[in-house]
Amino acid sequence: MKLKPFICPFCRDRFPQKTSMNVHVASKQFIVISTRNKPYKCPFDGCQQAYNDPARLHRHKIDVHKYVPKATIRCKKRSRVSSPSSDYDLTTGPSR
Ligand SMILES: [Zn+2]
Ligand SMILES: [Zn+2]
Repeated sequence: MKLKPFICPFCRDRFPQKTSMNVHVASKQFIVISTRNKPYKCPFDGCQQAYNDPARLHRHKIDVHKYVPKATIRCKKRSRVSSPSSDYDLTTGPSR
């Protein structure tokens, strides 16, 4: 059982040497910076790609990971016109 006193502040990986942790942290910091404005991260294991556009991420998944989208993907946004029943008749008061 090896002692690994150096713990990554990002993912809490443990490292026996500080230098190896620094290398790891440096890569993590790079990822943090590169994904800062890209909230759509690739969910595939080991892939660090991130995009600021879900469509690009989708395409990346197809191109890189041979991801097969499900048969029915609703691309069209249904513009639900939420019509509150504003024309509700309020004139019906208590009957005299
Ligand atoms: Zn880490
Ligand atoms: Zn990916």
